[in-house]
Amino acid sequence: MSTKICSRCMAVFDGHKWFYDEGEHTRLMRNRKIELALCPGHQRIEKRRIDGVVTLRGTFLRNHFDEAVNLINNIADRQLHRNVAARVYNMKENGDGLTVETTDTSLAERIGREFEKAFSGNLMIQWLRDAEFVRVNWQRD
Ligand SMILES: [Zn+2]
Repeated sequence: MSTKICSRCMAVFDGHKWFYDEGEHTRLMRNRKIELALCPGHQRIEKRRIDGVVTLRGTFLRNHFDEAVNLINNIADRQLHRNVAARVYNMKENGDGLTVETTDTSLAERIGREFEKAFSGNLMIQWLRDAEFVRVNWQRD
């Protein structure tokens, strides 16, 4: 297996595993013969594989909306460096809050735990289908 880079993000495959490395990706891009592929995260996005749904709700959320979106983006960015397959598939604002769909259970769980840590509130994590899918609910009024 040869070195590849993701055509949609800064993930790099070194012949054994995928990892996220902006510097290495930029360096490899200069090589015109480098093979382009989709990293595991983008493969999941392509297949619309959703492994976690996070629902965030409550008055506190509505009053701290930008802060909440920033926190989600920061968590997603950190998790990406641990696991390239863990991505936010979709984030949408709905009537009473924010729904985040993720391609990996670990990211959904982490968003819930980090919200509880940062803002307290009530967290409920529900594992489904032999822990292959997680539903995370966080609320603070
Ligand atoms: Zn990618």
